Amino acid sequence: MNHPAMQGLNLNTPSYVKHARLIAWVADMAVLCKPDTIYWCDGSNAEYLRLCQQLVDAGTFKKLNETKRPNSFLANSDPSDVARVEDRTFICSANKEDAGPTNNWMAPAEMRATLHPLFDGCMKGRTMYVVPFSMGPLGSPIAHIGIELSDSPYVGVNMKIMTRMGRAVFDVLGDDGEFVPCVHTVGAPLAEGQKDVKWPCNKTKYIVHYPETREIWSYGSGYGGNALLGKKCFALRIASNMGRDEGWLAEHMLILGVTNPEGKKYHVAAAFPSACGKTNFSMLVPPAGFEGWKVTTIGDDIAWIKPGKDGRLYAINPEAGYFGVAPGTNMLTNPNCLKSLDHDVIFTNVGLTDDGDVWWEGMEQDAPDRALPAHLIDWQGKDWTPQIAKETGAKAAHPNSRFTVAATNNPALDPAWDDPAGVPIDAFIFGGRRSNTVPLVTEGRNWVEGVYAAATMGSETTAAITGQVGVVRRDPFAMLAFAGYNMADYFQHWLNVGKKLEASGAKPPKIFTANWFRKGEDGKFAWPGYGENMRVLKWMIDRIEGKGHGVDHFTGVSPRYEDMTWKGLDFSAEQFKAVTSMDKAAWLKELELHAELFKQLEHHLPKELKETKAAIEQRLAA
Ligand code: PGA
Ligand code: MN
Repeated sequence: MNHPAMQGLNLNTPSYVKHARLIAWVADMAVLCKPDTIYWCDGSNAEYLRLCQQLVDAGTFKKLNETKRPNSFLANSDPSDVARVEDRTFICSANKEDAGPTNNWMAPAEMRATLHPLFDGCMKGRTMYVVPFSMGPLGSPIAHIGIELSDSPYVGVNMKIMTRMGRAVFDVLGDDGEFVPCVHTVGAPLAEGQKDVKWPCNKTKYIVHYPETREIWSYGSGYGGNALLGKKCFALRIASNMGRDEGWLAEHMLILGVTNPEGKKYHVAAAFPSACGKTNFSMLVPPAGFEGWKVTTIGDDIAWIKPGKDGRLYAINPEAGYFGVAPGTNMLTNPNCLKSLDHDVIFTNVGLTDDGDVWWEGMEQDAPDRALPAHLIDWQGKDWTPQIAKETGAKAAHPNSRFTVAATNNPALDPAWDDPAGVPIDAFIFGGRRSNTVPLVTEGRNWVEGVYAAATMGSETTAAITGQVGVVRRDPFAMLAFAGYNMADYFQHWLNVGKKLEASGAKPPKIFTANWFRKGEDGKFAWPGYGENMRVLKWMIDRIEGKGHGVDHFTGVSPRYEDMTWKGLDFSAEQFKAVTSMDKAAWLKELELHAELFKQLEHHLPKELKETKAAIEQRLAA
């Protein structure tokens, strides 16, 4: 089938694609974007290798040393295109109120009128890739399908790793299945004969979601969450809308399994803002003193959670790979991750060593005698030496540099990671990056108190988003950038899910808040973190089993020094105090920040949360 306006452009639709509505949409988009050719990705390994070679030929990819890092590539982006652009991200619901005060909004008609001229001819001189993908195991009742049209082969190969991508998606779709249409362009059309740059992108950027029609339009960026539309755009912003309508949760959470020495297994879903250690926590190696314990990864960034028939909540990881932060990753902080990166990896914006391998800041910190590389090419293509770094502060790797790697590379992968039924959740954890005020761990005494803590969570900003780093902002549920509808309604949805579980007679999962990032007076982290977070996990499991102790305080229950397991770690009661103390004056200030958030969300704010706040204030005053 060819669109009358296609003027000879062939859709190249494979014979196995029978979905008329989908084909018509691809034709419409081709007429608008005017690519030179159209290519339908089949998801095969041969195709992956071919596209990677094409990226090498174009200068976008550098093939890494085949002996040191088999079948792996490095891409260095344009220096202006290195992170998600939250200020250019829009939720275009019909009513402004449905997007809520925390999202950028524009009326759908106005946004369409804005985007139309930008997309008109945006793919000239380029290929339009048709990328079919499933978020979640193919054909699983929890999974959903998307089709991304993109003029970036970098997107094509990353989507192959990050999702279940390829021809099999069309078998599931059939001739009339539902899919989320996603259109992406780097926004850099090529004039006839014009030579391409290594990383095409545009100063103008729009990351746009239409929640009612479940559409995604992305313009001007080739980077990560701006361009791999299955991830944040679909699996969080659009899926949170689906979840609200259908009674489930789409969350910015890792999912891990933890098995005790007796063989009993628990599942935990944990939300932390970007670049706050979700990947590390999901691959945790239990420390000395925890022999016989095992942690396995189901997911490292996103969880889709649906109520099961037995009244429990079941979670799947909709993704198939990890798009993780490289700097700081080493054999001490995350050995499982480092092992996953041995082969078949796409690196973006890290340093390139003289022997064709990768390097990033912190890679050397796992051994006292490990030397810095004497010379390398930094992520911007400049010479880098330890001396230059010292003098100018130049970084070999961008602080938000990334690896893209298949989940199946992870030695700690949970056997059930791909189970269409998901895993039953025993506890939720919410954590922010706070150098003070917030203690190591707190348990909500009930669902509402847990939801309150998650809703009012603050965190210091990181390099994962453009803008200032290190400023505390409220990041409810670590979803500030990802809730695709009114944040206050999202709080209500969480309260409703809890109420429904309680009404069905099921015990809802416990809700904990955690903070690995307290600093001492010397400005250094006061908690060792990484594998030692197992000690906190163990206390949570004790609480789930009803045998763990703690003290009640004004925001919940926290462990005393003697309630935690210290075997294998030299950590004094004094040090423990530095990561758990709760300063009354600081908390009075903190509650003012809660009040600010509540004022912003006043219009739809659930009354239970206001009541919880009042109760905390009363306890604090007592
Ligand atoms: P993150 O994801 O910000 O949650 O790490 C990266 C991205 O989507 O760009
Ligand atoms: Mn994330």
